Amino acid sequence: MSETVIVNAGWFIDGTGGPVRKNIRLCIENGKICSISDSGSGDSRKGRVIDFGSGTILPCLVDSHVHLCMSGTDDPVARKKQLSADFDDIKDLISEHIKRHLSYGVLAVRDGGDRYAHVLRYRNEYSDIKKMPIGIRVAGRAWHRAGRYGGLIGRSLQENHSLAEAIKIDHEENDHVKIVNSGLNSLKEFGKETLPQFGAEELSDVVKIAGKCGRRVMVHANGKKPVAAALAAGCNSIEHGFFMGVENLKIMAEKGIVWVPTACTMKAYAEHMKHGSIEYEVSRMNLDHQLEQISKARELGVIVALGTDAGSIGVHHGSAVIDEMGLLIQAGYSLPEAVKCASINGADLTATDDFGILASGKPATFLAVTGDPSKLPGSLSAIQAIYINGTSASGVLKSD
Ligand SMILES: [Zn+2]
Repeated sequence: MSETVIVNAGWFIDGTGGPVRKNIRLCIENGKICSISDSGSGDSRKGRVIDFGSGTILPCLVDSHVHLCMSGTDDPVARKKQLSADFDDIKDLISEHIKRHLSYGVLAVRDGGDRYAHVLRYRNEYSDIKKMPIGIRVAGRAWHRAGRYGGLIGRSLQENHSLAEAIKIDHEENDHVKIVNSGLNSLKEFGKETLPQFGAEELSDVVKIAGKCGRRVMVHANGKKPVAAALAAGCNSIEHGFFMGVENLKIMAEKGIVWVPTACTMKAYAEHMKHGSIEYEVSRMNLDHQLEQISKARELGVIVALGTDAGSIGVHHGSAVIDEMGLLIQAGYSLPEAVKCASINGADLTATDDFGILASGKPATFLAVTGDPSKLPGSLSAIQAIYINGTSASGVLKSD
């Protein structure tokens, strides 16, 4: 039998969205939490003691929307190079991004696709990844309609196939299917919507085919119609969902379809655009509108998973989780609710069983951050420790 470890935590967030608890004693045996009690409540179990009495313990995090092939740089030359790089030129950058995620406590990411399926190849072939305790779920190349947005992250559908047929005969060993069903958000015209790339029926066939081989369907969609088509088809998640409207949010709440709002992309745009420019004003308005939608989603009970779209301009792998969590809080989420969006909601979406909720019988996989919860989410930039199945994995915190 392995040793018993007692962890003392000043504050404790269990990932369910419930209130922060103070002065908690976690007892760990065989890599699992065997009890959670108030310090001094008389739990007499003895063991090696780890003290986070002046820190906060919370579950490990999931970023449910990233692009590991791209960095958050705003240098157009560097971005162009990253977009056209071959595998050997990009694999070190992918490793760097993974290390950044780990150093911010992100132990699982869901990739939203890249033009050449480099992330898929990296996940399958690159041996470095096997040494790192991170779950990577990949889309490979996303699908889009020829002539419409999506070439940066995927491939277009050949004209002689239906989308479902193309997916059926596709040999990419992806974990989920990514469909692009609208354009990008306009930075010149507030609230401008684009038409769906695919109809509800086509998407419904995709959901069926993907489901047969155990794959979920994530749909990039902004605007009422593109989102409505994806929801009618029963997709698993809506990515971005800017300007989708309240009716769509109600359907999501009803059907349990997950929303990944990626609001920090607009915050980052606003920070990178020249003050007073039209792009600056519109990205700020887009952000405000998205925060209103997030607030409504919370009220309606929509399942929101935190995703950053890291790799977009100004959205940096790892640290963007702090920005997005801050925006959820700005939209009305409590800190524990925002942590829930970033932990169990993401873990469920990425089918990561190993972590999400800290409870008796669950794996002792958690983060310890310095200070009380009022320092979160900022204190994720200085994580004190990561434990995976009861063992310290804090070595991963030493990024570059
Ligand atoms: Zn994306």
